[in-house]
Amino acid sequence: MSERDLLMIPGPVEFDPEVLRALSMKTASHVAPEFITVFGRALKRLREVCLAPSAQPFVVAGSGTLAMELAVANLVEQGERALVVNTGYFSDRMATILERHGAEVVQAKCAPGEAPDVAEVERLLAGSRFKLMTVTHVDTSTGVLAPVEALVRAAGRQGVLSVVDGVCATAGEAFHQDAWGADVYLTASQKAIGVPPGLALLTVSPRAMAAWRARKTPVRSFYADFAEWLPIMEAYEGGKPAYFATPPVNLVYALDVSLGQILREGMEARFVRHRRMAHAFRAAWRAMGLKMLPVSESLAAHTLSAVYYPEGVDAGMVGRAREQGVVLAGGLHPQLKTRYFRVGHMNVVGPSDVLATVGAVERALAAAGHRAEPGSAVAAAQVELLAAR
Ligand code: PMP
Repeated sequence: MSERDLLMIPGPVEFDPEVLRALSMKTASHVAPEFITVFGRALKRLREVCLAPSAQPFVVAGSGTLAMELAVANLVEQGERALVVNTGYFSDRMATILERHGAEVVQAKCAPGEAPDVAEVERLLAGSRFKLMTVTHVDTSTGVLAPVEALVRAAGRQGVLSVVDGVCATAGEAFHQDAWGADVYLTASQKAIGVPPGLALLTVSPRAMAAWRARKTPVRSFYADFAEWLPIMEAYEGGKPAYFATPPVNLVYALDVSLGQILREGMEARFVRHRRMAHAFRAAWRAMGLKMLPVSESLAAHTLSAVYYPEGVDAGMVGRAREQGVVLAGGLHPQLKTRYFRVGHMNVVGPSDVLATVGAVERALAAAGHRAEPGSAVAAAQVELLAAR
């Protein structure tokens, strides 16, 4: 990859230079007063970004998979029942983690590109003694945006804890944790949160913290145990030093900078910008006659596009786009892997990134022999961007 290449995969994404500069700052002691201030502020900011004033935030060194495991390890005990609303690869992963931690897993599955019906999920939840329900906000393998608000509210009505995997959504897709009553929103740093990979982030509702406190058996992971992390998060937020495991000091600096930028933009403005960029991409795909993997517009994510290759074009197209200076991702869903490509459009993404990417896709498809009017997709995206101003 050249430094001038545009990184348009669904994470890691392009990062703001001020965030990257925070990574090269002198590393302070993890108990130095200036670091405690930064960590404490980042925790408060995470609560604001997740629109979760009542939640307990956790910031732990690790990737998104650790965030998933933190939620599961702390909320599930041997033999408890969990319902996985499955929209693809990362929902499969959640089911695996739940099983590893002793849960009895039931899955609401659907064809790739679809999402399970909310009323059907609520029927499953009713009277079946589920401890929790999990849902992937945006499944990165299919580009499906699950009907998260309705699902979370359904779980709430049935007295079931809701765990939302926001790794490919948080700070890009609308999410109102407290207002909707979601119990755990878990995410990672490298997507719409805007920080290089390495942080697992969670905001946990008072109800979920109470469920953790009411456990009959100890958490079966040492590193993932809230009992170890809660005093640390409380100490840093309270301005006091504490130690369990050395925090990734520079990543926390970067997180604080990025969350500050996100809040300055404003959550609503940020959600709207992500929607606008997604709509411009959709206009481009339509103009090129390309079909998206989600079966309807309402199920299509605003943080990435998953798009089928046209007839006669194969996965070599991703390499051709890279030759054009734009890095895209291939497919991920095991059933369809070779039939589609993915474009991430998160974090600092703006109109110029959209136009550069669409232009590269047009040239890559032309090089692969696909016939389309040159510039028609760029024009369609531009029209959409101008209309959205
Ligand atoms: N959940 C979703 C929705 C994801 O997109 C990803 C990563 N692409 C993960 C979980 C796992 O995160 P990580 O790769 O950071 O462990």
